[in-house]
Amino acid sequence: MASNLSYEIYCYAIALFAQSISIAIAISAYKNSGRFRYSWIVMSTVLGAMLLRRVVTLTSHTQTEISSPLEASLTVAISIGMAIAMYGLKNIFIDLEKQKTVLEGLTQTDPLTGALNRAGIMSHLEQEFQRAHRNLQPVAVLMIDIDHFKFVNDQYGHLVGDVVLQNLISNLQRSVREIDSIGRFGGEEFLVILPDTSTEQASVTAERIRKAVEQSTCAYADEKEVKITISIGIAVYNPHEFDLQKSQNRLQEYIRQSDLAMYKAKNSGRNCVVLWTPELGPIQTL
Ligand code: GH3
Ligand code: MG
Ligand code: MG
Repeated sequence: MASNLSYEIYCYAIALFAQSISIAIAISAYKNSGRFRYSWIVMSTVLGAMLLRRVVTLTSHTQTEISSPLEASLTVAISIGMAIAMYGLKNIFIDLEKQKTVLEGLTQTDPLTGALNRAGIMSHLEQEFQRAHRNLQPVAVLMIDIDHFKFVNDQYGHLVGDVVLQNLISNLQRSVREIDSIGRFGGEEFLVILPDTSTEQASVTAERIRKAVEQSTCAYADEKEVKITISIGIAVYNPHEFDLQKSQNRLQEYIRQSDLAMYKAKNSGRNCVVLWTPELGPIQTL
């Protein structure tokens, strides 16, 4: 009887240890489980309550009321199984979160150039406009369009055209800062967002980008260098001059301004930079 009892107590000690590990796993899974983290709080609480119930039973009952060796063995098996299952579940949640991050990246990436796609750059623009509004700092938007790109495709073929687009992105990345964002807005149109950038600074940056593209070789076709030029339109949001909160379509307004400025650059002979001014078209309130 005495030896059986010590076997059972030994079993319950192991079970308590295994249940404590389950709780520790549930708590550690909390921070990696994204929107499911509240489920892990509930899980940790339930497991804690189970552990407490077991401790209360063991401490408040007389030794003879402790259940049979079979039940004690089953309790150990269940507790260890629960800890293993909890560990597996935690890893499933971690994998799910990683896959979600990868998927989010893919849905915002342009497969040809590796730059942000339209949805991605628009989401960055929204964030930067909000930050600019909070910090009372200007943010500049550059609309970049390749000049006569149809000619590049017609002359050298679409594959060379694709290489030109890829190299243009590399060129843009070299010309801007780490905090700036580059996205493919349409076929051969790119949007660059320059946070904390005044009108003067944006003009200097745009001119630097334009020159860098003009001076570089974007691809080789039949051992000949393929060169391109770009036209750039600039729009600058200045929180001191315009209250974003009053505008429902603020992003579209600045995209439209940069687009109007870019078309002005096209009409001015291409390969140049134009800053949006009210004469180019009114701020749209769509
Ligand atoms: P402009 O100076 O007025 O901008 O003339 P453009 O020839 O650049 O303008 P247009 O809009 O007539 O032509 C744009 C071309 O861009 C046509 C289209 O075939 C090409 N294009 C768009 N997306 C891609 C792409 O992913 N790969 C390649 N190779 N070409 C593309
Ligand atoms: Mg073009
Ligand atoms: Mg175009």
